Formats: sequence, C-alpha cells, structure tokens
Amino acid sequence: MRKIAIVGAGQAGLQLGLGLLEKGYQVSMYTNRTAEQVQNGKVMSSQCMFHNALQTERDLALDYWEEQCPAVEGISVTIANPEQKSKVLSWSARLHRYAQSVDQRVKMPVWMQEFERRGGKLVIQDVGLAELEQLSEQYEMVLLAAGKGEIVNQFSRDESRSPFTSPQRALALTYVKGMTAMSPYSRVAFNIIPGVGEYFCFPALTVNGPCEIMVFEGIPNGPMDCWQDVKTPEQHLAKSLEILETFVPWEADRCRNVELTDDGGCLAGRFTPTVRKPVLTLANGKKVFGMADALVVNDPITGQGSNNAAKCSKVYFEAILSRGNQAFDEQWMNDTFEKYWSYAGAVVEWTNSMLRPPEPQMLEAIGAAAGNQQIASKIVNNFDDPRGFKPWWFDEKACQEFIVSKQIFNQVA
Ligand SMILES: Cc1cc2nc3c(=O)[nH]c(=O)nc-3n(C[C@H](O)[C@H](O)[C@H](O)COP(=O)(O)OP(=O)(O)OC[C@H]3O[C@@H](n4cnc5c(N)ncnc54)[C@H](O)[C@@H]3O)c2cc1C
Repeated sequence: MRKIAIVGAGQAGLQLGLGLLEKGYQVSMYTNRTAEQVQNGKVMSSQCMFHNALQTERDLALDYWEEQCPAVEGISVTIANPEQKSKVLSWSARLHRYAQSVDQRVKMPVWMQEFERRGGKLVIQDVGLAELEQLSEQYEMVLLAAGKGEIVNQFSRDESRSPFTSPQRALALTYVKGMTAMSPYSRVAFNIIPGVGEYFCFPALTVNGPCEIMVFEGIPNGPMDCWQDVKTPEQHLAKSLEILETFVPWEADRCRNVELTDDGGCLAGRFTPTVRKPVLTLANGKKVFGMADALVVNDPITGQGSNNAAKCSKVYFEAILSRGNQAFDEQWMNDTFEKYWSYAGAVVEWTNSMLRPPEPQMLEAIGAAAGNQQIASKIVNNFDDPRGFKPWWFDEKACQEFIVSKQIFNQVA
C-alpha cells in the first residue's frame, strides 16, 4: 500500500485524500485546525463552484449538499456609473448547468469526518519545515495543500507567471439572510463599478441553512478599500450596506431586510495573486509537492479558487493512480503540475485581466453581450471553463471576429 501525507484539510487536500483512500492508498492528513474550529470559526471564502468542478466531487460521491444547497442558475453583469448611481448597462444569461456554494465551514468538517471513516489518519498539527522533514522520512510523498498558510511561501515564487507584487483588491465577505431573490432565475449578480471595484452576490448554503453571500472587491486606496476601522460583525454589515447604497442602490434595494447569518459570517483581508514553483527541496534533500492555492493563488474576482482546487485535485489523483508503483520523483511532480497549469494558466490570465483596467476589446465584448444572448451566454458559461475566453478576450481583432460570428449566428437563428 503506497503511503502519502497531505498537509492541509481544505478543498484540494481533502478531495484528493478522500479519493486516494477509496483506491486503497494509505493517506495521512496533517492540518492545523480541528473540524470544530473550522465549523465554529469565521467564513473563509465564497466558494462558488461551477458544474465541471462540482462534477469532480460527484465522481467521488462527496456531493452531500447537492439537494440542500440553492442552485446558482445564471450570471448577470452590470456596469455602474458611480457618480450618477445608475446602470450603464446590464444583462444576464443562464448557466447551462447550475453552480453551487457550500460554506467551507459546513463542508470541510464533514469531509474530515468522512476521511477518518474511510480509514485515513487525521492529525491536528501546525506543520512547519521541521515537520515537513519528518513527514518526508515517513511517507513516499508529501503534498502541501496549505492554501494561503505561511508555510506555502517556502515554494519559490514563479516570477514569469506572477505579474503582481501587491494585493490588487481589498476583499470582504458578508453572509446574510433575507436578501430579495433574483427572478426569473437565481444568479451571481456581478456589478462592475469603474474606479471603485466590483460587488457580487449569490445564493449559498451556510451553517444555518440557505443564505446569500456578498463579495466586495475594492481597488486599493479607493472608496471600497474601507474595512480598516470595522471592528464588530454589526459594523461589518452596516459598512456593507453603506457601500451598496453609495454605489449600487439597486443592490441595496434587495437588502432592506437582511441580517448576518451569524457572527462568523464576515471577513475582510487582502493577498497578492501569486504562482509558485511546484517542488520544494528540504534540507534532507527530499521533495515536497505543492497543490492548488499553495501554488496558484488567484484573486477571487472571478470566483475560481475552489474550482481550481477541485480540478487540481482531479489532475493529481489521476496522475498518482497512473504512476502505479514508480517513484514520485521531481520530474513526475513537475510534469503533473504542468498538466494542471495547462488549465490553471488560462484561469490566471483571465482573472488577472479582470484586475487591470479593462482593455478595449473586453469592454466591447461586455457591451455586445447586452444586445446578443449568444455572446452573453458564452461569457457566462466560460466561468465553468475559462479556457473559452481565448483568444478573443485578449485580442482586439479576434474579439471583432468573435462578435461578428455571433451576430451572424443571431441573424440565421
Ligand atoms: C474572499 C474570498 C472569496 C472567494 N470566493 C471564491 C468563489 O466564489 N469561488 C471559488 O472557486 N473560490 C473562491 N475563493 C477561493 C477559494 O476559497 C480557495 O481557492 C480554495 O479554498 C483553495 O483550496 P485549497 O485546498 O488550496 O486551500 P484552503 O481551502 O485554504 O485549505 C488550506 C488548508 O490548509 C490548512 N493549513 C494552512 N497552513 C497549515 C500549516 N502550516 N499546517 C497545517 N495545515 C495548514 C488550513 O487550515 C486549511 O485547512 C475565495 C477566496 C476568498 C479569500
């Protein structure tokens, strides 16, 4: 039986560990928070996952919340005029297959329990370099899936794949109950507020049932970078509503009767989007292999991190199975990461493009979508697989051709 250690019981580590246990691998999980601490702690993400990522969970019979969790059936895009408090444009389209968001405080504790039930060893430990060395002596492979934990900085930053050296947004999450639902279908309501940032919200499942998650993406030093003085959950909710009233009043109208889901239902912070090299060499010469956010951490503006973690887990799972009894050497680790990067690279490029001032063709595509459902649908459904944004999202000529092709399609249809 092959022995594998995974550090970090998040989306990536747990999904991979649970899959490997089912295939007869001996897996130990080292993580720094107990299930109770996760469940009773603060929210960590908005974790909206689209169909392809959800399917990787279904394939491993881990979709325990499929029936209870509200479906996200579409996405709308609104560009706001912050001075006039009005909409410049607004459109929406349905997802071909629904998305869902299960609060990680709900999901991870249950997956941790299931991990032990399937025969895995779960150890609560804050892992540093010394512990990694110990693990590397005991296991055939050590995977580091520690998300944004300090330890992931041991992987070298990949300069060629990391254009940013500072956080690009001031982030905040507010989990609420009582928001007016969108009709005729539920959706991620995505608002772009030029010069200010972005605000989006969508239905989800949290510790006390269905809710809506509000996500704030403030441009650093701008008016939505405003969480420094917020000390209590009540102040956090009040600040959230003040932002909506100031910049997107149509969203404030949906929030006349909202309340926080619980005191842990809010978060504020920031981090630098970064890509790291996949293999860490320890002082004893052994290798540690990184995965998901530990190597590719994106700004949540496009809601891709948990999707990436699930997809990374699938790529690694299949590579580990295909490896049979051969050693998990550095070459194999690099090759496996590159397989994941062939997908994740496209996600990073698109996500980073959303953080910079928009290029003309991006605005043209978003504008054209207002009058053409084919274009709107393409943009919306690309959230499930952002490789579909290439080349037209990034190239003016290709974008023109893309728009014309959809207009012709519209006339024929
Ligand atoms: C504000 C915000 C909104 C987001 N919204 C979305 C969204 O809508 N859709 C989406 O797809 N993604 C979203 N994400 C991103 C998503 O949450 C992450 O990409 C995803 O959780 C990454 O999974 P992971 O398994 O790599 O890491 P994590 O889920 O972070 O798990 C890491 C684990 O490692 C443990 N750990 C850390 N350090 C150590 C250590 N030293 N020793 C032992 N254990 C350790 C942690 O406790 C944790 O259990 C959002 C993120 C943020 C911050």
